[in-house]
Amino acid sequence: MNYVANVGLEVHVQLRTKTKIFCGCPTTFGAPPNTHVCPVCLGYPGAMPAMNSEAIRLTVLSGLMLGCKINPYSKMDRKNYYYPDMPKNYQISQYDQPLCLGGGIEITRPDGTKKTIRLTRIHIEEDVGKNMHFAASSGIDFNRAGTPLMEIVTEPDMAGADEAMAFLEALKEILAYGGISDVNLEEGNMRCDVNSSVRPAGQETLGTKTELKNMNTFKGVHRALSYEIARQIADVEKGTRIRQETRRWDDLAGITLTMRSKEEAHDYRYFPEPDLLPIVLSQAQIDEWAQVLPELPEQRRARMVRDYGIPEYDAGVLSADQDIANYFEATAKLAQSAKAASNWIMTTVLAKLTELHLTIGEVKITPAQLAGLINLVEAKTINIPTAKEVFELMFAQGGDAAAIVQAKGLAQVSDTGAIEKFVDEAIAANAKTVADYKGGKEAALKALIGQVMKLSKGKANPGLVNDLLKRKLS
Ligand SMILES: [Zn+2]
Repeated sequence: MNYVANVGLEVHVQLRTKTKIFCGCPTTFGAPPNTHVCPVCLGYPGAMPAMNSEAIRLTVLSGLMLGCKINPYSKMDRKNYYYPDMPKNYQISQYDQPLCLGGGIEITRPDGTKKTIRLTRIHIEEDVGKNMHFAASSGIDFNRAGTPLMEIVTEPDMAGADEAMAFLEALKEILAYGGISDVNLEEGNMRCDVNSSVRPAGQETLGTKTELKNMNTFKGVHRALSYEIARQIADVEKGTRIRQETRRWDDLAGITLTMRSKEEAHDYRYFPEPDLLPIVLSQAQIDEWAQVLPELPEQRRARMVRDYGIPEYDAGVLSADQDIANYFEATAKLAQSAKAASNWIMTTVLAKLTELHLTIGEVKITPAQLAGLINLVEAKTINIPTAKEVFELMFAQGGDAAAIVQAKGLAQVSDTGAIEKFVDEAIAANAKTVADYKGGKEAALKALIGQVMKLSKGKANPGLVNDLLKRKLS
């Protein structure tokens, strides 16, 4: 029998605010434990929270980018439970009146087709502390407690691990574009709970779902989901009932394990937070925030294809990072060929960034300098291998491509007379290869071109070399 999986995500995103959600403590990552704390975020009795309006603005902006309905009236609620990293014994969250409702994200499936994943809601809440375990004892770091989080809840619209990954990638891109979050996974800026269930193909009702808690890498989500869906199918086939439960992913063993039976909303005894006023947003306020809505990744891709005539694939690669897209556009505006600019950035520049763990902002070559190099190739002043050589020099120290070519005497030899001399030399010195070519071995021509290029110290125009050799040998 064929099975269909249904996956829904609850993604926790750390909002890019300077201070915590209910107090003035900084949100900077990596400080020594318990140095960014105060009575409010430590949960002292009687300490009063005060709402950080920037957290609301960023969440509303996200809602607008994701096509949500913004609730003019929403409120904060207490979610009651005990855990050592949360000494108040309740987390301030939003229950029945979240900031945003509905919306969706269009993803591209592995086969290239598009699909919209519907959002249920977006609400804000505070993060909790972090348990730390040492050899002889355990401790809690409260620096993270009270960090503003936005929780994005989806409908169970994803059909498996690939679609869940595509959703997370698309969401991450949009949030980065909007300046909503640093979306740095290493620093825990994006974590998610993953709900999944399986049902026989053709059956309408969803199967019983399980939840995987606190996944903090996209790769982990993909591996855990692939395992979990296969596990559920195997159990259903065996006739074992799937239990509604919370499971955890053991990354080393590559399996999911039962943690506890799934809690229901009523277990948390939600009630309205009495220390915070409801959030009331006027349409004028929402409209004002909407004015700074950025161009979304999908819109930018379409515009890049339209404005620069580059393939959709290129636009997808280049727009995945806003800074790289900016770098490309600045280069393409000055280069004679936008496609050449795209090729250089997608291959040579991005490879360097990966190799040296750099961001595009740290690259010494400016877009104008890269365009200068591209234009030398377009004008046939230098060939591609020479351009790569010049690129290396520019990458190390920046500088003007034309000046480097001039100083190093790298300009391509397009003078037929000079190339003819090298061609004659190569033919004279490689009698056997010449005979091979004349005997019908096409590959021998490549070897001869190589010889000519060597004699010219890489400066001969390869197109001319090819033409001349063919003419002389025919
Ligand atoms: Zn604080």
